[in-house]
Amino acid sequence: MITVMLKPVSSLCNLSCQYCYYKGVHSDNVKTTDSVMLVDTVELLASQFKSAGVKKIAIGFHGGEPLIAGHEFYRQFFSIMDYSGIDCVYSIQTNATILDYDLLKLFKQNRVLVGVSIDGLKLLHDRNRRFHNGSGSYDIVKKNISLFQKEGLCVNCLTVVDDLISINIKKVYEALKKMRLRWFQFIPPLPFTTKITADEYAFFLHSLWDLYVSDIMSDNRISIRWFDAVLSRALGKTVYSCAAGGKCIITPVIEKNGDVYPCDFFCTAEWKLGNLWDTDLFSILNSNTLSAFMSFAGDKGFCNKCEVFYLCGGICYAYRDSYLCPAVRRFLIAREKQIVSLAGYIKHAFGEAIGK
Ligand code: SF4
Ligand code: SF4
Repeated sequence: MITVMLKPVSSLCNLSCQYCYYKGVHSDNVKTTDSVMLVDTVELLASQFKSAGVKKIAIGFHGGEPLIAGHEFYRQFFSIMDYSGIDCVYSIQTNATILDYDLLKLFKQNRVLVGVSIDGLKLLHDRNRRFHNGSGSYDIVKKNISLFQKEGLCVNCLTVVDDLISINIKKVYEALKKMRLRWFQFIPPLPFTTKITADEYAFFLHSLWDLYVSDIMSDNRISIRWFDAVLSRALGKTVYSCAAGGKCIITPVIEKNGDVYPCDFFCTAEWKLGNLWDTDLFSILNSNTLSAFMSFAGDKGFCNKCEVFYLCGGICYAYRDSYLCPAVRRFLIAREKQIVSLAGYIKHAFGEAIGK
């Protein structure tokens, strides 16, 4: 199965989050006057998948804010993909501030997996995740999470960890659980977007790990993506997740005008792989630029002598020389025995894939 990240409105967004790494990226790199991906581009993509004999695709809608594309875009998108006969699995990463009943119904019909960005507590969330007029977005995000859930959509959450989230992680974790969320993703901020120290991030990891373990032991298992990956690595399993898998997992980013990049963190002129209107996606994915990117971003040489590489897999290149490696290393060394024994316990007790 091939996985792509599709940006129907590139970096256009109705919020102006402080730690956003994608703000204004399209205005620098994507030369087009259309604010939403054209139907022609969607048809072109579908025809390229078809001619390459692709049977199954995972498509993740991303932004900016992908819901800005609106109901009509998604209706046409799903119908073009249905018509192509390719089996598609959809997900969306959204700030969940723009939602109407028609869109909800459409997402339900197409079994879209929803990832909502929310920082747990109103005070913390509204400090960072604001509309352009400066007002906070927490109340509407929380309301829309319940709407997704009421419609039976599967919702997971994404929280960016800054210094205050780190200190308040217990309250944040409990607040997310109260919203009936069960699949959590905590993201370390990119070094240039916000300030967090290695001490603060290590504190966050230790505190969250204790909460995670306590819930597993009380038979109330919550999935936390990075911890799940570490446990899988402890059992020697292959991890299909960026960085934690020990290598870059290429998820081509397709911008609204058909430009293709190797990774969401590297949508720069230097790493542009091509454009769907000039070259088909599969030739683009065989390009020398992509091989060069893999050798550049995938180089884990700096982890060679690290005793906890077997648990960590090496951090993403975008965080190289930042707070992240020292924090992760300190945490993994301190908790190594506990991680290995918990992985063994889970395998014995549940006998199934970690994180399911
Ligand atoms: S650079 Fe980082 S985010 Fe990009 S593919 Fe590699 S590991 Fe994943
Ligand atoms: S802790 Fe740092 S050095 Fe060790 S494997 Fe992870 S990223 Fe590499």
